[in-house]
Amino acid sequence: MDRYLASLIARLPAEPVTRFAPAPTGWLHLGHVLNAYYIWEIARAIDGRVLLRIEDHDRTRARPEFEAGILDDLDWLGFHPDIYTTDQFRAGRCDGRQSDRDAVYREALEILRARGLVYACDCSRASVASSLASGLNRTQNNALPGQVRPGHSAEPEEFHYPGHCRDRQLPLVDGYGWRVRLDSGDEIFDDGRLGEQRQDPSQQCGDVLLRDRHGNWTYQFAVTVDDWRQEIDLVIRGADLLASTGRQIRLARLLGRPRPPVFFHHTLIMKSPSQKLSKSDRDTGVRDLRARGWGAADVIEAAVKNG
Ligand SMILES: [Zn+2]
Repeated sequence: MDRYLASLIARLPAEPVTRFAPAPTGWLHLGHVLNAYYIWEIARAIDGRVLLRIEDHDRTRARPEFEAGILDDLDWLGFHPDIYTTDQFRAGRCDGRQSDRDAVYREALEILRARGLVYACDCSRASVASSLASGLNRTQNNALPGQVRPGHSAEPEEFHYPGHCRDRQLPLVDGYGWRVRLDSGDEIFDDGRLGEQRQDPSQQCGDVLLRDRHGNWTYQFAVTVDDWRQEIDLVIRGADLLASTGRQIRLARLLGRPRPPVFFHHTLIMKSPSQKLSKSDRDTGVRDLRARGWGAADVIEAAVKNG
């Protein structure tokens, strides 16, 4: 990790802010621990600060008991955020929690809407998938670079929205998904570990969904707005999110952010060469390891050793 620090420092302001941003849709597992390790280690080395964000934008999957468990595990592991402490989250409403930031997302949406970039979409995932299957809208697979993990197969082929509703003038109301127009063009960025990357969001995913038809803000939109409004300078996350970076940079620019954050995508803990860990992998859950008598240092060591 040390070899990346000098170039990160050169690209960042003094006392840069990074963030740890788990989704409370499951318990913390070793994959999160590895991510937290990178975040706190890098922050310490570059005189940075860590913001804690609870990404509960998807209200159908997020659960308060998972948030409580994440906060407890972070305390136990010794990962203490500088901005939005675990106690601030426990105290109730908190600006680090996405479900408490609806007004912020609405305001951001208005920016895109005023620019004529937002439209309503009534396509179901199934209907887009069947048009995909016809072969007309198949996107090229956005493969992860081979150096991410030897033998790691790329993410499954991405869902590409072909723009069916772009010009249908459906009303922007609840019950429809809301999308943003993304014109073709490459986003080029210099990943802190992987070097120069080039992605064209219009080819990868098409017009990004901002809000789904159930009224949930999407991951792509909420995280882009938060990284901007919370003045995140450095995003440190697993390489499974590399493909999302170009669209987040594009969205941030459309919103008016002058400069995107610096991105650093680290290796993942793999269950097998092609399968990353997920929250359902109980054998690697922090709370299960705790229950088996592991200490915090053992858990962190296990994560780092396998990362
Ligand atoms: Zn549509």
